[in-house]
Amino acid sequence: MKIIMGGGLTGLAASYQLSNNSVPSLILERGSILGGLARTFNSGGFRYDLGGHRLLTSNRWVEQLFRELLGDHLLEVERKSQILLNGRYFHYPLRPLNAIRGFGTATSLKILKDFLTEKTRGLYHQRPNLSLQDWVTSNFGRSLFEIYFRDYSEKVWGIGCNQISSEWVAKRIQGISLWKAIRTAITRMRKPQELTLSDRFYYPLEGIGELPRAILKATPHARLEINTEVVEIYHSERRITGLTVMTPGGLRRVKGSGYISTIPVTTLLRSLRPVPPEEIMNEAREVKYRDLIVVVVMLRQDRVTDLNWLYIPQKTVPFGRIHEPGNWSPIMSPPGKTHLVVEYFTSRGEDLWEMSDWALESLTTYHLEKLGIINSKNVIGTETRRVSHAYPVFDLDYKKRMRKITTYLSGFHNLILAGRTGGFEYLNMDEAILSGIAAAERLVGLPHGESTINITDHLIPRGEEIRL
Ligand SMILES: Cc1cc2nc3c(=O)[nH]c(=O)nc-3n(C[C@H](O)[C@H](O)[C@H](O)COP(=O)(O)OP(=O)(O)OC[C@H]3O[C@@H](n4cnc5c(N)ncnc54)[C@H](O)[C@@H]3O)c2cc1C
Repeated sequence: MKIIMGGGLTGLAASYQLSNNSVPSLILERGSILGGLARTFNSGGFRYDLGGHRLLTSNRWVEQLFRELLGDHLLEVERKSQILLNGRYFHYPLRPLNAIRGFGTATSLKILKDFLTEKTRGLYHQRPNLSLQDWVTSNFGRSLFEIYFRDYSEKVWGIGCNQISSEWVAKRIQGISLWKAIRTAITRMRKPQELTLSDRFYYPLEGIGELPRAILKATPHARLEINTEVVEIYHSERRITGLTVMTPGGLRRVKGSGYISTIPVTTLLRSLRPVPPEEIMNEAREVKYRDLIVVVVMLRQDRVTDLNWLYIPQKTVPFGRIHEPGNWSPIMSPPGKTHLVVEYFTSRGEDLWEMSDWALESLTTYHLEKLGIINSKNVIGTETRRVSHAYPVFDLDYKKRMRKITTYLSGFHNLILAGRTGGFEYLNMDEAILSGIAAAERLVGLPHGESTINITDHLIPRGEEIRL
């Protein structure tokens, strides 16, 4: 029996692939429902994800899996998002022509001038792009960094852009330059009907939580235990020998022949018995995840926007992003009603995290009304959910730290770390699924090259966009 710690998409995908190889697995999930970050809640007919989760992949195998698992519940949704900058709405990702119109000629020329200055400077003086600030400034110029990238990034991460590793942003906006964006804008003017992968996405009819449920259904050799938290992990002679789990019925021992961990790497390290060397625990104490609060505002009106997402970098507004689930799938809200899901990026212990649900809900309604997005008279309900370990924080030293930690953990022969939370990697759902599949194949010792999937079998490129 293989043991999988964590019932998010990575853990479920690992279990799915073990099952495909006729290997039984036991998934231990702390929460009361499966899916981890990819869960959907239903509050009196108002369904919502923990921040809208669109399905997007450039991998053929994963796309086919989505189709097989979700069938006619896999909706294709046209993407329409905006960003509110200095009181004006812009397309998101930024489109050059729309930006010129919105910023005005003077600011647009300044953006272009700063961009050219950076490019010219780059010809003579190559600086290392260590931080997000370095990377964005050298690729897009100082003005675009300040107007478009800085405030939103700092809201998400809670630290200055000069403290965020450039690796995160380089991955998110890979292969993009201002020139390419301008070229794309011109091509689009010529062929407006052509949609790229970033113009549309897939979404399950009943919300993203339908995906983990569908994976479990297609996994006959798996057993899922919810409300089961891994609290201690025993090891001896470089092997994991068993776990203690906390369940509603009390503590219990669990034993398997191989283990996949998708739980936060910090939790894993703290649970090991004997405890890891002090040097490793010191590194672990510096590994940070960013948490998230979602506040749902239910309204007695048909729709508030026609958008998938609205991004709000402005620092005087405490939340960063809003989505309206009814624009993702028609059954997400009851007929004649709608709801907004408002995301606060925060960390345990910060003022926002410590606020009561009631205070957060009042704060949300107040700011939504102040921004002119809702009329508070239409609010018929609110709900708050706190999500821990939502984002791995890539500060400037994370790589060095994680290298030490993973080197230590790779010494355990029957333990594999996988996924976004478990592997401390900034993965989207398709990548989390692939990570779970790869972990399962390593655990059963499938020789390299005998995988049933081709991880590099890419579809068309994701499309070019300037986004965070
Ligand atoms: C706000 C937000 C929006 C996102 N939007 C998108 C999007 O639009 N598209 C996209 O592709 N991706 C998106 N993602 C990323 C996506 O959510 C992840 O890639 C994916 O869900 C990661 O799955 P995972 O299994 O690796 O991690 P998780 O989902 O974190 O799973 C880990 C699981 O371990 C469990 N666990 C933790 N500790 C213990 C313990 N001690 N014992 C037992 N169980 C434990 C947790 O409860 C959880 O279920 C988004 C993420 C966030 C935060």
